[in-house]
Amino acid sequence: MKVLIVDDELDVEQLYRQRFRKEIKAGELNMMFAFSANQAMEFIAQLAPMDIVLVLSDINMPGLTGFDLLKFIREKYSHLKVVMVSAYGDPDNMNKASSLGASGFLVKPIDFTILKEKIFNLK
Ligand SMILES: [Mg+2]
Repeated sequence: MKVLIVDDELDVEQLYRQRFRKEIKAGELNMMFAFSANQAMEFIAQLAPMDIVLVLSDINMPGLTGFDLLKFIREKYSHLKVVMVSAYGDPDNMNKASSLGASGFLVKPIDFTILKEKIFNLK
């Protein structure tokens, strides 16, 4: 299962790799990282898109936001599930995420137990 994590904070990669170490080692999970919405769009367009099952995207990023990425994915790769991540659980962002077609919304700091459930219940 391939998951694309999108966040402008570079240290999220280490955090996710550490928290999902067991699953990655067991070959259950393949994580890719993009550090901007643009980079994520390039990855999605280049890689066989069917190979990615879930995109986990930060909302607040310089340049294009996570909402721009969500719109792009909903228009062009409608089979991809997108979960939005934000430091703020404000209702406006949550409503916007769900009206734009996000499959979920997580507030930072991420509860990795909940995230694991979300990822492994997608199948
Ligand atoms: Mg950010």
